[in-house]
Amino acid sequence: MSSVLKIKDLSIDIKKKKSNVNVVKGINIEIGKKMKYGIVGESGSGKSLTSLAIMNLLPDALQISEGSITLRTENEKDLTKLNKRQMQSVRGNEISMIFQEPMTALDPLYTIEHQLLEVLRFHTNYSKKEMREMGLDMLGKVGISRPAEIFKSYPHQLSGGMRQRIMIAIALICKPKLLIADEPTRALDVTIQAQILDLMNELSETHDTSILMITHDLGVILETCERVAVMYAGQIVEESTVKDLFQNPTHPYTQGLLKSIKSLGNRRETLYSIPGNVPTPIQYQEMGCRFVTRCPFAMEKCKTQEPSMYAVGEGHTSKCWLHEEEGKDHE
Ligand code: SF4
Repeated sequence: MSSVLKIKDLSIDIKKKKSNVNVVKGINIEIGKKMKYGIVGESGSGKSLTSLAIMNLLPDALQISEGSITLRTENEKDLTKLNKRQMQSVRGNEISMIFQEPMTALDPLYTIEHQLLEVLRFHTNYSKKEMREMGLDMLGKVGISRPAEIFKSYPHQLSGGMRQRIMIAIALICKPKLLIADEPTRALDVTIQAQILDLMNELSETHDTSILMITHDLGVILETCERVAVMYAGQIVEESTVKDLFQNPTHPYTQGLLKSIKSLGNRRETLYSIPGNVPTPIQYQEMGCRFVTRCPFAMEKCKTQEPSMYAVGEGHTSKCWLHEEEGKDHE
């Protein structure tokens, strides 16, 4: 597969004086051209940290301890090796990101025009007139009527849906090869959510942009993505096409997640939730399988031995001892 982004064996640690604490471990992901790839997991699973690592925006207390993040656009580069200045020319230009909450991501002190055209000012040499035309055109593409009027507005004058459209316009105006969308519809109501997801799908087609969708919501994955990685406690536990994952989930955590969605649709059933709590990073270090305290199929060896990622089907892998026999070690 010709990929735009390849993450290999990525691990992230919390820096500590004595010894670092691992929070994200052994992430392997490959995103093809124009592919829509999802990472799904609950809060604290490491999905947002993975996306921040790609953008080189990890907080100071964290560091990449292992692995590579290869971006293939005009040339090929390992993002973990770039310095600050080199990374600034990648961000907003080759990779863009849409954050969860548009109100905090947009600067309340500047007009939409200023914020939208700032990316062009930084990355291109277009004239003022050309940039203005491109900005107005982009606002039209994200479904904003009266773009000239919106240009003069400040973020607080716009609705949540409008602000999220502006964020998408800012992210796409330089035609990036990869768009990372971290819970892009979390703060929006359901009808606006659907419009924003449709819009992202449409724009990724017309701009040849691959999308990495980060979400806790399997419904969003189903609607937008082709492949998916399920993350739990800082690791990918299952990876496959979206169709396979929904038809044949193999990891007990994924099975629990899907069961909780299905029970939502059946009023007679008691709402299912996976028992127990996600372990803390300090607890991970002592565990074999990180899901062991919540897994209905846990065996003795799960407590002390970490399972490999086993192939359970064509392009489908699962990190669980239950698949040791059927699947060969994929790592
Ligand atoms: Fe459950 Fe063991 Fe599989 Fe972990 S490795 S998911 S504890 S059966």
